Amino acid sequence: ISDVTEQEKVEQERREFVSNVSHELRTPLTTMRSYIEALTEGAWEDKEIAPKFLSVTQNETERMIRMVNDLLQLSRMDDKDYSLQKEKTEFITFFHHVIDRFDMNVSENITLQRELPNGQFYVWMDKDKMTQVLDNIISNAIKYSPEGGTIRFNVVKQNNQMLASIEDQGMGIAYEKLNKIFERFYRADKARTRKFGGTGLGLAIAKEMVEAHHGKIWAKSKEGKGTTILFTLPLMNKKRRGKK
Ligand code: ADP
Repeated sequence: ISDVTEQEKVEQERREFVSNVSHELRTPLTTMRSYIEALTEGAWEDKEIAPKFLSVTQNETERMIRMVNDLLQLSRMDDKDYSLQKEKTEFITFFHHVIDRFDMNVSENITLQRELPNGQFYVWMDKDKMTQVLDNIISNAIKYSPEGGTIRFNVVKQNNQMLASIEDQGMGIAYEKLNKIFERFYRADKARTRKFGGTGLGLAIAKEMVEAHHGKIWAKSKEGKGTTILFTLPLMNKKRRGKK
C-alpha cells in the first residue's frame, strides 16, 4: 500500500510540475503576444513607444531562455546517469575567484565583504556546478540588496564539514517561507521577482547540486534586516594543518 501512495505522490508532483512549467511559460508568452499585436497594429510607427515595446519582448524572451536553461539543468540532474566532474579543490581560493567575477560588475553602492579564512579547505567537488550554486545565491543577494548594502561572505570549519554563508541586508524572507524558497518555481514575492526577471528555479538548482555533493543548504532571515544562505560541504578526509 505504501508503494502505491508513494507512486501516487510522485505522479501528483509530476502533474504539479508540468502545470507549473506551462503556467510559467505562458505568462511571458502572452505578454509578448500582446506587445507584438500592439506593434503590428501600428505602434511600430511611434518612435517613442516602439523601442519600449520591443525591449519588453526582448526581456521576456531572455527570461524564457533562462527558464528553459534552468529546466534543462534540473531535468539533467533528475537523470540517474547524471554525473559530476569532481576534483580536489581548495574552496577558499575557489570562493575568492567566484566573488572576483562579481566584484567587477556589481554596482558601487553594494559592498562585497570577504570574511574568508586563510586556512585551506579541501573539498571533492565539481567546480562548474558549485560555481553555478554560488552564482545563483550571490546574484539573489545582490538583487535583493538595498542601496549601500553589504554582502558578507564567510566560511568556517565545523567538525569534518565546511560551512559557507552569504549574508545580505535585503528585505528578508518571512519565517514560514524560508524552506519553500528551495522549491521549484517558488517565489516569496511574485510581483517583485517578475520585475527582477527571476525564474524561481535558481535555489532549487542550488539545493540539488549541494545535495549531490553530500552537503546541506538552508536559509536564515530576519524580515526587513536581511537574509543568510548557508551550505555545508564535507571536507576531504586528509591530514592537514589547522588555521593557526
Ligand atoms: P528567483 O529566480 O525568483 O530569484 P530563486 O530560486 O533564486 O528564484 O529564489 C526563490 C525566491 O526566494 C525568490 O523569488 C525570492 O522571493 C526569494 N529569495 C531568494 N534569495 C533571496 C534573498 N537574498 N533575499 C530575499 N529573498 C530571496
